[in-house]
Amino acid sequence: MLVRLLYASHSTATEAEFAAIVRQSRARNAELGVTGLLCHSEGVFVQVLEGGRAAVNRLYNQIVSDPRHKDVTLLAYTEISERRFAGWSMGQVSLQRLNPALLLKYSEVAKLDPYAMSGAAVSALFEELVSEGVIVCS
Ligand code: FAD
Repeated sequence: MLVRLLYASHSTATEAEFAAIVRQSRARNAELGVTGLLCHSEGVFVQVLEGGRAAVNRLYNQIVSDPRHKDVTLLAYTEISERRFAGWSMGQVSLQRLNPALLLKYSEVAKLDPYAMSGAAVSALFEELVSEGVIVCS
């Protein structure tokens, strides 16, 4: 039973804390069988998590209570038959390589603001990021 969960939050993390989150997530997600992507841009996190329902739900509850971010907002939660981000224990979106036209395709302005986008639009944007090759690290 697989699910995909997408949320946004406001980051209070320093660059060093962010690096620690990515390191910790890669190791732990691999153990949990969780895959996904994390985007960190101008004080905003967007993360997609895929995996078994129990593992994803438990992890999301831990993430929500993490003091390194706030205003955690669930954007989408879907039962899935297959993963779309299977190649990444926690891939990072490289915003330097992000085409502004792609952001404009899904949002009002060429700036990532997941709080002003529907969950479906953020999901579609993430899928295009994968096909455009702007995901770094596995
Ligand atoms: P512990 O490491 O014992 O943490 C205990 C408590 O302290 C938790 O509430 C934890 O959130 C908090 N905490 C841990 N380290 C710090 C720190 N350096 N500074 C302040 N508080 C701290 N974890 C994953 O395993 N996979 C992910 O994909 C993932 N994504 C994340 C995305 C974001 C945006 C953030 C902010 C965190 C993410 N984390 C992720 C980390 C997650 O929130 C937990 O820290 C982690 O799951 C371990 O939690 P724990 O309760 O088992 O352990």
